[in-house]
Amino acid sequence: MAHSVIYQVPVAVSISSDSTFPRSVFKRNNLSFHDKSQTSGLFLDFKHANSGLHSRAQFVICMSVQQASKPKVAISPLSLEDAKEPPLHLYKNKNPYTATIVSVERLVGPKAPGETYHIVIDHGGNVPYWEGQSYGVIPPGENPKKPGNPHNVRLYSIASTRYGDSFDGKTASLCVRRAVYYDPETGKEDPSKKGVCSNFLCDSKPGDKVLIAGPSGKIMLLPEDDPNATHIMIATGTGVAPYRGYLRRIFMENVPTFKFNGLAWLFLGVANSDSLLYDDEFTKYLQEHPDNFRYDRALSREQKNRSGGKMYVQDKIEEYSDEVFKLLDNGAHIYFCGLKGMMPGIQDTLKKVAEKRGESWDEKLSKLKRNKQWHVEVY
Ligand code: FAD
Repeated sequence: MAHSVIYQVPVAVSISSDSTFPRSVFKRNNLSFHDKSQTSGLFLDFKHANSGLHSRAQFVICMSVQQASKPKVAISPLSLEDAKEPPLHLYKNKNPYTATIVSVERLVGPKAPGETYHIVIDHGGNVPYWEGQSYGVIPPGENPKKPGNPHNVRLYSIASTRYGDSFDGKTASLCVRRAVYYDPETGKEDPSKKGVCSNFLCDSKPGDKVLIAGPSGKIMLLPEDDPNATHIMIATGTGVAPYRGYLRRIFMENVPTFKFNGLAWLFLGVANSDSLLYDDEFTKYLQEHPDNFRYDRALSREQKNRSGGKMYVQDKIEEYSDEVFKLLDNGAHIYFCGLKGMMPGIQDTLKKVAEKRGESWDEKLSKLKRNKQWHVEVY
C-alpha cells in the first residue's frame, strides 16, 4: 500500500534581494538556492510518496511561502547589534578619521531648485554608528576666521543604516544639499560665498579622502523596544536622511533582533516632484508593506493646500491630524528633521489642531516630551 509522509522542514534558503522564486536556482537532490540574502520563515513541504511497487522513492515537492513579501537582505557583521549603547564621539574634531569617498550621486531631477547628492563614504568599519546619528565632516583647507587652523566641523545626518548601503558595516551615506549664495541685490549666484563643506562633498570624486568625526547624536535614535510601535517621521528636504536609515532597517534588512510590525509613517516636504529624495525606495515599501508603511508627500510648488495656498508639510499633517493625534495619544513617536524654518509652521498647525479638539497644545507637548515621544533635529 502506498503511503505518503509530509515533512514540513523550516530551512534557511538564500534568495536574491530583488528576486522571488523563479530566478532562484533550485536543485531537487541537494536543495540549494543560490544568491546573496537569507530569508526567514520560509518552509518547504516534502511529500514523500513511497510506493511498494517502486524501489526508488518519489518526491513531490510543494512550497508554501509563509512570508509573501520580498525577502530581506542579509547584513553583516551582526556584532553591530551587540552594543547596549550607541557609539558616540569615537573620533573627535581634532583627531578625525580619514575616510574615502565611494560614490557621489545626484538625487534630484533637472527641475529641482538646488542640488542634492547621495554620498557614500567608506569608513572601513572603523567609525560605526546607529541609525539617526550624524557624522561631522571637516572640509579641507584653512579656516578664514582662524588662520592656520582647519575649518570648523559641519554635521550631516547619516542616511544609511549601520550596515551601510553595501550591507557590510563599512560605509555610511550622507544626503547633502549644495549650499549656494545668491546676492540679494542682483539675484545672481556669488560663488565666492558658496558653502564650504557641502560644496566640497558634492564635488568630491570616488577615492577622495574626507575627514570625519563622530558619530554624534542620541535624539534621533530609533527606539526599538516595541516592534509594534508607531513612528511618525516629518522631513523637509535633506531632513529625510535619518528616516532613510530607519526605513531600510525596518523594511529592507534582515535584522535578527528587530522584527518590525508597527507603523512607519513618513511625511516628506520638498519643492516639486523633481526634488523628491529616495522616492523609489519609499514607493517600494508602500507596495510591499502597505499595512506597515504610509508615505505622504507635500510638494510646495506643485500642490495646493485646502485654502488654495502652497502645500507645505504641515498642511499634509493637518489633513491627517485626527489620526496623527490619536496615534500620539497611543504612544507614537514623532520625529522632525530638516531646516529650522520648518518648526514654527508645524508647531502652529499642531496648536491649531489641538485647540479645535479642545486640548491644550502646551500640555500635550510637555507630555510628549516627558514620554520621550518627541524627537527634533533641525538645522
Ligand atoms: P558654510 O560655508 O558653513 O556657509 C553657510 C551658509 O552661509 C551657506 O549658505 C553660504 O552660502 C552662506 N555664506 C557664506 N559666506 C557668506 C557671506 N559672506 N555672507 C552671507 N552668507 C554667506 N545638511 C545637509 O545638506 N544634509 C544633512 O543631512 C544635514 N544634517 C545636519 C544635521 C545636523 C545635526 C546639523 C546641525 C546640520 C546638518 N546639515 C545638513 C547642515 C550642514 O551641517 C551644513 O550647515 C550645511 O551643509 C552648510 O555648510 P557649508 O559648509 O556648505 O556652508
